[in-house]
Amino acid sequence: MDYGHAVAFGVFITPTNAAPRAPVALARLAEQVGLDLVTFQDHPYQPAFHDTWTLMSYIAAQTERIRIAPNVLNLPLRQPAVLARSAASLDLLSGGRLDLGLGAGAFWDAIEAMGAERLTPGQAVTALEEGIDIIRGIWDTDARGGVRVDGRYHRATGAKRGPRPAHPIPIWLGAYKPRMLALTGRRADGWLPSYAYLQPGRLADGNAAIDEAAASVGRDPREIRRLLNVAPASGTAGWVEQLATLALEDGESVFIVATDDPDVMRLVGDEVAPAVRELVAAERARTGTGTAPVRSAAALAARRAGIAYDDVPAGLAAVEPGDFRFGAVRSNYLRGGDPGIVLEPADAAQVREALAFARRHPSLPLGVRSGGHGVSGRSTNDGGIVVDLRRLDAIDVLDERARRVRVGAGARWTDVAAALGAHGWALSSGDYGGVGVGGLATAGGIGWLAREHGLTIDHVVAAELVLADGTVTRVDADSDPELFWGIRGAGAALGIVTSFEFVVDAVGDIAFAQFAFDASDAAGFLERFGTAVEAAPRILTPNLFIGGRRPGQPRVAQVLSLVDSDDPDEIVAALQPLADIAPLLQQDVRLQRYADVMGNASTEPHRGRGEPVSRSLLVDRLSPGFAADAAVLLDSGATHWFQVRAVGGAVADVAADATPYADRSANFSVIAMGSDDAELDAAWAPLARHATGAYISFESKLDAERLTLAFPTATARRLRVLKARVDPDNVFRDNIDLALLRP
Ligand SMILES: Cc1cc2nc3c(=O)[nH]c(=O)nc-3n(C[C@H](O)[C@H](O)[C@H](O)COP(=O)(O)OP(=O)(O)OC[C@H]3O[C@@H](n4cnc5c(N)ncnc54)[C@H](O)[C@@H]3O)c2cc1C
Repeated sequence: MDYGHAVAFGVFITPTNAAPRAPVALARLAEQVGLDLVTFQDHPYQPAFHDTWTLMSYIAAQTERIRIAPNVLNLPLRQPAVLARSAASLDLLSGGRLDLGLGAGAFWDAIEAMGAERLTPGQAVTALEEGIDIIRGIWDTDARGGVRVDGRYHRATGAKRGPRPAHPIPIWLGAYKPRMLALTGRRADGWLPSYAYLQPGRLADGNAAIDEAAASVGRDPREIRRLLNVAPASGTAGWVEQLATLALEDGESVFIVATDDPDVMRLVGDEVAPAVRELVAAERARTGTGTAPVRSAAALAARRAGIAYDDVPAGLAAVEPGDFRFGAVRSNYLRGGDPGIVLEPADAAQVREALAFARRHPSLPLGVRSGGHGVSGRSTNDGGIVVDLRRLDAIDVLDERARRVRVGAGARWTDVAAALGAHGWALSSGDYGGVGVGGLATAGGIGWLAREHGLTIDHVVAAELVLADGTVTRVDADSDPELFWGIRGAGAALGIVTSFEFVVDAVGDIAFAQFAFDASDAAGFLERFGTAVEAAPRILTPNLFIGGRRPGQPRVAQVLSLVDSDDPDEIVAALQPLADIAPLLQQDVRLQRYADVMGNASTEPHRGRGEPVSRSLLVDRLSPGFAADAAVLLDSGATHWFQVRAVGGAVADVAADATPYADRSANFSVIAMGSDDAELDAAWAPLARHATGAYISFESKLDAERLTLAFPTATARRLRVLKARVDPDNVFRDNIDLALLRP
């Protein structure tokens, strides 16, 4: 039976240490002649051989492309949890080039002499299965808790998981006897025997045993790749025919030639491999045998109802539950998610395709995700579709003199800051580099340079977006000015922005200051902070965090500030009035680049769980009444995180009707995070009375009341008209549901 896998060729090199680098030179040659795989036998009790891991690691560093595998590893002498980490490390270091051949053990006298327990063949198979459980458990960093395997021969009692390999490392078993073949069918990704050890007909028998075992646990036999160690044959034509027959009749798809002869390697690379591939391809074309990768039965079972998975357009990357990468793309920074499919378009045309796919599933939730830091809009979901824009992350300078740049929606602000910093420029975004461009630049963008340079949206001069009906359009002040207005504050409700054009600012070295204050008198402290900020020059933008009461200790407030100056006198003059508002517990001021401040982003995949709970408002002044109500909230226990950010300054230079972000007169943005919606609502209510507006990005519950606060009457009227034109079916309701706006 032909299982339809692509045909690959490898080589089996003797790991001799007589001429220590000889195997390395052969591995490099194998890569040069175009082979796919280089493999090594593993006999740790054999002093004439290199240690297999050390050799493979060295070769990984000396090669670029070729895959590397032990053929096969002696598990009795390899502690499974350590082996799993070694394999994951080598996979990460080599860019995902490791495959793992495993064996139950042979040469037991030598194994026992090395200190391991002698096992019967049956026991060794059981031990191998336990080892596989541990290895896969260590690699499974998406699972919760430690690895627990209570085996007879191998145990793990809560071992930490990780590292996660760079790719799903396949486990191939060197199997000959029924128990090993059955294990291969049930648990492995490949069968790797040596042809010389198989009696005639045993290949077909082995395949049948594996297929039966696979079917017994609901697996598709095509999930198991068939690999074969073969000896070189004399006569190219006959060899080609033999291998092609093995591929077409016995389903063998990876041929590993046992040789240390450079000429044989060249012959395989130059002549045998291309000829076998051609013969196999021709026969498959004639019989209509497909070569598409097989989705495992387990992955198919993980699919969610109501999604036409087979209709994803060709070429559009998609990640499904059950895929290796799913754990890295399912959730957001703060919010847990379990979508049915994550589409990863690479350009605007593919965003259009992804959106069309989503629109063919009108009843499913739709998330549009750039950086996944959304507090409000739902850029991930449960059982729905996510259009993830991470691949649209290009940052291009369009006009050096005008400081005009184009940035893909999927870029992160840390990368934008680094790219602009190289030109002596900066674009005020937010306080955290991990946040995505798309979510922030469609909503507002309250950042470290806000008082001097305004909001991020104030720097947008054009944008490309895909509308609900699939139209790809570029908007600016002249081309569809109303839509251009709308995307600068309510963009998430109007379409999918694929890129923004910004005019950015010239920013040199800046000062970043961190003050810790004794803020025991919380209300007084907030008032004094407000007064100092309002009186401060625009080059100063502070950001205040204040905590709850702590028994026996002063309440601490932390103020982080950016001063856009590299002149020490000017910096001190800007900061001194702020430093005087309360007893200073700690201070740190350093000259650095804006890009350094924004370099604070994690590169780890998002692992958010649950739903964020936050309330926010904009307010003109931190009045005595506001400060008193804030102090009560701080002591209520309903919030674990309370922040006051400075806006005002250049933000207020922009007219209220210039963007949907309308409350331009506010000097402060206030945010509280909690863990219980109702509890936070109750504690927040007194503070909410002071609100003059709202910023949608800091609010986890965008209901009618909050949307109406963010988008006052005149703004709401314009948004309703715009929405009716560009998204009459409310396709983007999961981001911001403008239908909730009160008429
Ligand atoms: C740790 C942290 C720090 C933050 N700091 C700041 C800050 O300093 N200043 C500030 O203003 N905000 C800040 N925020 C809030 C942040 O601006 C918003 O959450 C923003 O929406 C996140 O953008 P994103 O692309 O990362 O999020 P995502 O979760 O990807 O998107 C958020 C929302 O925007 C929509 N969206 C995303 N991309 C697009 C697009 N290309 N076109 C249309 N709609 C899109 C999504 O559908 C979703 O509704 C912070 C958030 C976090 C979690």
